[in-house]
Amino acid sequence: MYHSFQVTLTAITASAPRQRAAFSSALAALCPGAPISRASALHLIRCGEDELPELLAAARAAKERFKPGVITYSRKVFLPLTNLCRDYCGYCTFRRDPSDAGAHTMSPDEVLTVARAGEKLGCTEALFSLGDKPELIFPEMRQTLRRLGYRSTLHYLEAMCELVLRETTLLPHPNPGLLSAEWITRLAAVSPSMGLMLETTNASLLASGAAHDNAPDKVPAKRLRTIEEAGKQNVPFTTGLLIGIGESLEDRVDTLLAIRDLHERYGHIQEVIVQNFRAKRAIPMANSPEPTAGEMLRTVAVARLLLPSVNMQAPPNLSAPYDDLADAGINDWGGISPLTPDYINPEKPWPHLEQLRLRTEAKGFTLRQRLPVYPEFIAGVIARPGLLSEKLRAAANDHGLAKLKRTA
Ligand code: SF4
Repeated sequence: MYHSFQVTLTAITASAPRQRAAFSSALAALCPGAPISRASALHLIRCGEDELPELLAAARAAKERFKPGVITYSRKVFLPLTNLCRDYCGYCTFRRDPSDAGAHTMSPDEVLTVARAGEKLGCTEALFSLGDKPELIFPEMRQTLRRLGYRSTLHYLEAMCELVLRETTLLPHPNPGLLSAEWITRLAAVSPSMGLMLETTNASLLASGAAHDNAPDKVPAKRLRTIEEAGKQNVPFTTGLLIGIGESLEDRVDTLLAIRDLHERYGHIQEVIVQNFRAKRAIPMANSPEPTAGEMLRTVAVARLLLPSVNMQAPPNLSAPYDDLADAGINDWGGISPLTPDYINPEKPWPHLEQLRLRTEAKGFTLRQRLPVYPEFIAGVIARPGLLSEKLRAAANDHGLAKLKRTA
C-alpha cells in the first residue's frame, strides 16, 4: 500500500501577510550574480497565486540574461536498451521483470536500425535509457548478456554507444543509473555527455510504502556520489529533480541546492531537468496526486533563480498546456523524437516539432536544435582526441548547436 502523497500546499493558495512580506523581501533581494539563500528560495517557492506572476517575471528575466531569445531542444531517438531493472520505484511504468509482458533487451541490430532511422529524420542524439543493473537479480538477464557476449549491462551499453558513434552521425547520451568512477571514464570515451536524475535528497522516500521503497539505487547519497565523480572527471552531466513523489517544498529546494553545490565545485552540470510525476494506471502510485501546474511553475522558476547559469529543462509532454513553462525560466524543452515514443511516459506523446516551434515563437523565443552536449561544454569534449571528438566536431555548428541535416 503506497502512501497518499501530498505536498504542504497551505502557503500556495492564498498568501498570508507574513509570507507575502517574506516573498517581497526575497524578491527584492534578487541580484544578478548574488547567490540566493535557502531561506529566500523557500519564501519564493511558497508564493501565493497573486505573487506568482512576479516570481515568473524574475525567472524569465534571469533566463534572458543567460540565453537570450532562444529555447533549444534535442532531436533524438530513444533507445530503451533494456527495461529490466533491479529497482522498483513506485512511479515507474518503464521497468519490467523478465516474466512481465513487454520485457525486452534490444539487440545490436535493433539499436542500429532505430539509430539509422533517426539519422534519416535529422536526429542528432541517441538517448540510451535503461534499468539499473538488472543482471544482479535476474538470471535471465545474465543469460541474455552471455548470449550477446558481455559481462554486464554496462559493458553492453558501452559497446552499443560505441556502435552508434562509429556507424551513424548520432551522439550517444546514456542514462544507465549509478556509475562508479571507472564506468564514468569508460562511458565518457563513447558519449559526449551523460545523465542521472538526482530526483530528491529526501532519503525518507526509501521507507516502506514510499516512492523509493525497494529501490536500492535511489539512495540520494549514492546518486550524489555519481554526479560528483562525473564532476571530478569534467564530464558534462545532466541531472534534475522529480517532483510529486512524496517530497516537501523544502526537499525541492534542498535538492536544487545540492545540485548547485556540486556545480559550484566542479562546473559540470550542463542541464537541470524539472520533471513532474504523472499518475498512470498499473503503477503502485496510481492514486497519488500529481503536482499542480502552479507547483511546476514555482519549482522551475526557483530552479532558474538558484541556478541562473545552468541550462534548465522541463519536458513539454508532461504538462498540458506546456507553453507557460517558457515563462518560468526554462531554456530547453529536452529531447524530442520524431520517431520513437517516450518509453518512460508512453501515454504522453511528444508534441509535433512544428507545433513546438510555433508555440515557442508565440512566447517570444526562437526554437533551436541542440546536441546532447550543450554548446558551453563542447570544446572540452572535442579536446579529447579520438572518434568522439571527430564526430562531435562534425555534428556541431559554429554556435555549438546542431548542424542541421537534410532529412529524408
Ligand atoms: S525509475 Fe529507473 S531505477 Fe526506478 S524502477 Fe524505473 S527504470 Fe528502475
